Amino acid sequence: MPHTLFISDLHLCEDQPHITQLFLSFMRNTAPRADALYILGDLFEYWAGDDDRNTPFHQQIVKAIHEVSTHGTAVFIMHGNRDFLMGKQLMQDCSATLLRDPTLIDLYGTPTLLTHGDALCTDDVEYQIFRKKVRAAAWRNDFLNQPLQQRIDQIEQLRKMSEESKQSKAMDIMDVNLAAVADLFRINNYSRMIHGHTHRQKHHQHQVDAKTCERWVLGDWHQTGNALSCDATGCTWLTVSI
Ligand code: MN
Repeated sequence: MPHTLFISDLHLCEDQPHITQLFLSFMRNTAPRADALYILGDLFEYWAGDDDRNTPFHQQIVKAIHEVSTHGTAVFIMHGNRDFLMGKQLMQDCSATLLRDPTLIDLYGTPTLLTHGDALCTDDVEYQIFRKKVRAAAWRNDFLNQPLQQRIDQIEQLRKMSEESKQSKAMDIMDVNLAAVADLFRINNYSRMIHGHTHRQKHHQHQVDAKTCERWVLGDWHQTGNALSCDATGCTWLTVSI
């Protein structure tokens, strides 16, 4: 049956070879049967710039995506908060299309809004200020103009600080804000929503302005991976193992 797959939050990095193997296996065995694959952010633990795409580690991932997209499965990639510096050259090598966040698609007749999800975490004021700063074109250009190793060092620093601040933040601050979710439903005509980021895999039903809205939250990848598979009849979870 024609279907489309959604994944996010793999956080691929050299320190987690098991997750990389899960992804490569998913790209070999599962993704090629789908009409399309949407990667909704944080494919990588971090992305320092497209000039880092030729390392052996990144090359195997790029190759796996390219194989799938050149054999009949359209691949779409959205920025996450970790890999928002993924750019045109990487997309070209992957033969993938970079999506704006959010993007509304027609999924077998059901309007479906795709977003990474971090913009919905409005209770984390400190993070939203940081997000606004780093997503500005001027910040991005200045950052990318630095030598690669300098960028990697800065990102490592930021990751450490982010880990520390996460431990002191209340769990609910790091979840989506329900008023922000309702607003996004409202301005997108109460379409179905699919997002990642919070790693809290769940199918939610919301009542917004007396309309029932559906929100699918994708999970992250650990011992197993997970994907959402949608067809004309609806969506179901898929567990990804080797
Ligand atoms: Mn994220």
